[in-house]
Amino acid sequence: MERRAFIKMAGLSPLALKLPIGSSGPGYYHDHFTLPPLPYPASALEPVIDTQTMEIHHGRHHKGYVENLNKALDYAGIHTDDIMDILSRTSTLDERIRNNAGGHWNHSFFWPLMRPPRENNVPEGIVRDAIQGSFGNFASFQELFKKVAMGIFGSGWAWLIKTSSGSLEITSTPNQDNPLMDVAKERGTPILGLDVWEHAYYLKYQNKRADYIDNWWKVVNWDTVAENLKG
Ligand code: MN
Repeated sequence: MERRAFIKMAGLSPLALKLPIGSSGPGYYHDHFTLPPLPYPASALEPVIDTQTMEIHHGRHHKGYVENLNKALDYAGIHTDDIMDILSRTSTLDERIRNNAGGHWNHSFFWPLMRPPRENNVPEGIVRDAIQGSFGNFASFQELFKKVAMGIFGSGWAWLIKTSSGSLEITSTPNQDNPLMDVAKERGTPILGLDVWEHAYYLKYQNKRADYIDNWWKVVNWDTVAENLKG
């Protein structure tokens, strides 16, 4: 039985069942958040992103963010399953919550942004029009996005965001921060995002982040991007 269901059935508040954290491992914290499945097999993005990278990235890294987020929330006595609530007030929360909530949101956003590779994989319709309107043409957009992604020192994410004024901008965040967080220097709604942590590409591309970015365009799911743009 799911822990939450048990708690509800038992008529106990989660606080009453607060259990020790750390050495006891998974199962000893509340399942505020769960790991979403990949929307395709781990091999689906070959040869752009290799199967082993996808298995480790999703099954260990993303899973770890979810588990550590649940633990950190319990430790802080915060009981919510609303990720947007957490992201909007990260400045007031423990760094462990900030990092792992970001890690969970970012990767949940990232997986559906990809699909099996296609040659000449370019946006059409509203995404093409919006990119042309903001960046002139798709090639200029790609060039600027790559420049921002290459400019991230260490680990982080490159983003295409829609700002509150409705304009499209390219930005980056360090670590597992994202533009939805109140701590972000440029805030907005993510439309597209690229993980440039080494764990996202090192097995296949080693230190060649530029090659990873160039190849990544082949697996971008522009249908998902269109949905994100429509909001
Ligand atoms: Mn990652």
